[in-house]
Amino acid sequence: MTKQTHAFQAEVKQILHLVTHSLYSNKEIFLRELVSNASDACDKLRFEALDNAALYEDAPNLEVRVLFDAEAKTLTIRDNGIGMSAEEAASHLGTIAKSGTREFMARLEGDQKKDANLIGQFGVGFYSGFIVADRITVETRRAGLPAEQGVRWSSEGTGEYELETITRAARGTDVILHLRDEEADEFLKTWKLKSIIGKYSDHISLPILMRKEEWDAEKSQQVLKDEWETVNKAAALWARSKSDITDAEYQEFYKQISYDSEAPLTYTHNRVEGRSEYTQLLYVPAKAPLDMWNRDKRGGVKLYVKRVFIMDDAEALMPVYLRFVKGVIDSADLPLNVSRELLQESRDVKAIREGSTKRVLGMLESLADSDSADDKAKYQRFWNEFGAVLKEGIGEDFQNRERLAKLFRFASTHADEGVSFADYVSRMKEGQEAIYVLAADSLAAAKSSPQLEIFRKKGIEVLLLVDRVDEWLLSHLYEFEGKPLQSVAKGAVDLGKLQDEEEKKQAEAVAESFKPTLEKLQAALKDRAKEVRTTTRLVDSPACIVVDEGDMSAHLARLLKQAGQAAPKSQPILEVNPEHALLKRLATDEPRFDDLANILFDQALLAEGGQLDDPAGYVQRVTRLLSA
Ligand code: ADP
Ligand code: MG
Repeated sequence: MTKQTHAFQAEVKQILHLVTHSLYSNKEIFLRELVSNASDACDKLRFEALDNAALYEDAPNLEVRVLFDAEAKTLTIRDNGIGMSAEEAASHLGTIAKSGTREFMARLEGDQKKDANLIGQFGVGFYSGFIVADRITVETRRAGLPAEQGVRWSSEGTGEYELETITRAARGTDVILHLRDEEADEFLKTWKLKSIIGKYSDHISLPILMRKEEWDAEKSQQVLKDEWETVNKAAALWARSKSDITDAEYQEFYKQISYDSEAPLTYTHNRVEGRSEYTQLLYVPAKAPLDMWNRDKRGGVKLYVKRVFIMDDAEALMPVYLRFVKGVIDSADLPLNVSRELLQESRDVKAIREGSTKRVLGMLESLADSDSADDKAKYQRFWNEFGAVLKEGIGEDFQNRERLAKLFRFASTHADEGVSFADYVSRMKEGQEAIYVLAADSLAAAKSSPQLEIFRKKGIEVLLLVDRVDEWLLSHLYEFEGKPLQSVAKGAVDLGKLQDEEEKKQAEAVAESFKPTLEKLQAALKDRAKEVRTTTRLVDSPACIVVDEGDMSAHLARLLKQAGQAAPKSQPILEVNPEHALLKRLATDEPRFDDLANILFDQALLAEGGQLDDPAGYVQRVTRLLSA
């Protein structure tokens, strides 16, 4: 192929412009990105060579070299990894494969701090080379292809790139940066490059080599020798002993694998021995990623076997509800050519998954149960970010249900956040048998729900479940330590022993004398309510809507409707407070009975967050009443 010029995909042009202009203040990260690509390329070769050892071409030692030419002002990142064919060079370096580009650009364009980690996260790290270079030349040959099928890709990082065939004996890739004049002074120095590599790439498990430098007394300057030396630690971080790793190293490693700009909330590093032998280094991020709700998203845990990278979306290693966990699991037992299918079935993998799940839960428990206020605050932060995902575990992980339930936090009538089941139980009144809960669309709606009135009056705490997944949670979690969860919006209130005999008797008497009115109400609302009955749950409100024990709650029915699903239509029950002035008026205002009855029903519906089937009818009735 003779030299051909191609235009970049439109998105690439925009990305290039943004990356070079907005990440300038953090320009040294280009080296991290290019070294990370070189290391990925070596991992890919190692992986493909498991089935086809010929790809090594008799040079099995994988490595990265960083070299420069001060006169030509070039800096080269060289690897002997998988390399690229012409098609691969065009598609990998000329188009953007990952989705989310628009979002990425919006975030770079925004006012926020220009976050250099974003470029790795969105798979555009290669382009960061253009922050410091006004031309990048990539010379590459894919492992296994003949020398004549080498490729040179070259671009000034504006609108287009050139592609031509070259002869290249060496497998792998050279990324040659032609540095801008103003950058050349800064980056073409051994000590500077070493220090950047030490900062960002120490944990890369391949050796990164640079030419040795020596003081030349005659020229009275440093000169480069032909000898090479390894400039990184070249030992996978997780394989090193815990006591040799600093907190800063753990943090930097986290950034590398997660592309998160924030430090992790907590992490755990262990070597597990026993039936299955493996090392785990697992992190809990401080912030939820944008795509956390995607249950199909790749897992955050990378699988290694004896330090050889195998795959980075090994969902068999972590349950879906812990998909926010990032890290590395390195097994000593699995075969190197382990396939996805094998992973699903392997008993070793099952043991790793169980062990790792327990570790993560343990890590969360130690924050949640810690005596330190700092840890407790961290746990609350975790809960705010990931609580809704953790709740999925109730349906997914039967084995750890109890541990999970203990980690859950809610709002309640007692506190706006951070209430655990255990806290609740410790505040239960004498004689209280159930854990009372109320699910609603928002905390404000929950707090002003008429259903809470009697509980307030009696000082009984109610958990307020205002997360979208809470209704689902309630259908999977029925009790905590033997105490049933009872929705205050379902069925008749039965405060059981919490109500004294005196109260019960009085309520019965009031209900008895209200009976004739109640019958009329039932007749007036027979098409709207399944039942109308008196209640003692209300104190200040005239009426409220409840659903039958077995029926779907109105809140859940609304959620389903929003999600475009058909909810079974069941009529609600109207409960009325016979002691309320409005009900007393009903008993005496014969001409307006019908209007009042319907208004009573509509208002109960509104108070509970529902929508009226016939809002115009409601308005007419209220208008009639107001103008009477
Ligand atoms: P990412 O690494 O997240 O995929 P990059 O922009 O850093 O995004 O790189 C884009 C793609 O270019 C890589 O996925 C890879 O296919 C290819 N690539 C980049 N550098 C190399 C290299 N040194 N060897 C082989 N392929 C490379
Ligand atoms: Mg990359």
